[in-house]
Amino acid sequence: MSNFNPADNIQDLQYFGEFGGVNPSISDSSTYTFLSAKTMFDTFEGNAEGCYLYSRHSSPSNLYLDRALAAMEGTETANVAASGMGAITPTLLQLCGNGDHIVSSRTIYGGTYAFLKNLAPRFGVKTAFVDITKLDVVEAAITPETKVLYCETVSNPLLEVADLAGLSKIARKHNLKLVVDNTFSPLSVTPVQFGADIVIHSLTKYINGSSDTVGGVVCASQEFINDLKNVNSGASMLLGPTMDSMRSASVMKNLRTLHLRMKQHSFNAQYLAEKFEGLGLKTVYPGLKSHPSHELYKGMINPEYGFGGMMTIDAGSLEKANALMELMQERNLGYLAVSLGFYKTLFSAPGSSTSSEIPMKEQKEMGLTDGLIRFSIGLDNDIKRTFEMMHQCMKDVSVL
Ligand code: PLP
Repeated sequence: MSNFNPADNIQDLQYFGEFGGVNPSISDSSTYTFLSAKTMFDTFEGNAEGCYLYSRHSSPSNLYLDRALAAMEGTETANVAASGMGAITPTLLQLCGNGDHIVSSRTIYGGTYAFLKNLAPRFGVKTAFVDITKLDVVEAAITPETKVLYCETVSNPLLEVADLAGLSKIARKHNLKLVVDNTFSPLSVTPVQFGADIVIHSLTKYINGSSDTVGGVVCASQEFINDLKNVNSGASMLLGPTMDSMRSASVMKNLRTLHLRMKQHSFNAQYLAEKFEGLGLKTVYPGLKSHPSHELYKGMINPEYGFGGMMTIDAGSLEKANALMELMQERNLGYLAVSLGFYKTLFSAPGSSTSSEIPMKEQKEMGLTDGLIRFSIGLDNDIKRTFEMMHQCMKDVSVL
């Protein structure tokens, strides 16, 4: 994979529409006809290549997007889902059953954390939450029942970097599957190059990029995706988080500009992070030398897509964080909203929003302070001007 460029791989996929359209046709059908009853039977059994049965299983529009995302992540194939959680939960339930165990990073998206902590135990699946940056701690948490090592490449919301190569060595040694949520770093990081077995995205974020839909994907081997889609035992097929064809067609069109957007998000975030740090604000951004995993991450990224668009600052207290966010919104510098990867800057206080599923005591332990603001930096044309306006807001609410 030495010449692997995820954006070139997407670009090289050319799909024509039914009438020679420049975009592929949308399959606006939930069910499909067969000319012979025998072919219908064979399709049910999974033995009729190129035939469609029912859209919860797969549809032509979803397969276009599957192929493009598999090309991006360098996996054999992929399976899109109706949301990021609709990709994560079936994957973990497919890999683990009653009595099995997961070792997971403790700094993960709040919904994933809540699933592992509260819902998965009802299926007999237990999780140990660990500091993923400490490989010895990760290895020590493995038990004979452990089946999965789970992490986010860059974690939500603390922007810790997982040493994917180190984790994959541990996974190999103990015969575990390394499952990586790469939502924060599409194109920038290609987790399979470091030994990940399964790569997941919430398409809701950068990949779709227009904050108009939720979506998800599991990128993996053909064997694993076949398991997920198995009509008798597949967690995706049976839990049913299927993406609608109309949506997969629109995500596909947005995917075509992902490389341009990631470069601009990263450029703007790097600029602002350096400026904020220069003002004396506690700033966390993997592109800053002060980030504890800066050197590690530098060696992991495809450099042209940069260090990504996510950063945090500490405003000192929840009151100050709230005042700053409200003022920035009033002055049209972004939206006080959860989620990320939009053209406009989004900001939120994770302790009281996206990570509120994590109990206060645990938030404190992992360094999630009250005054933390998470920024998803937008595609602003003149980032110097944006900085000057943000700087003024900071002065006006006495954050500086
Ligand atoms: N993974 C990460 C890193 C996320 O930030 C999110 C949502 O915020 C999800 C997964 C869940 O994705 P979705 O909201 O599309 O279900």
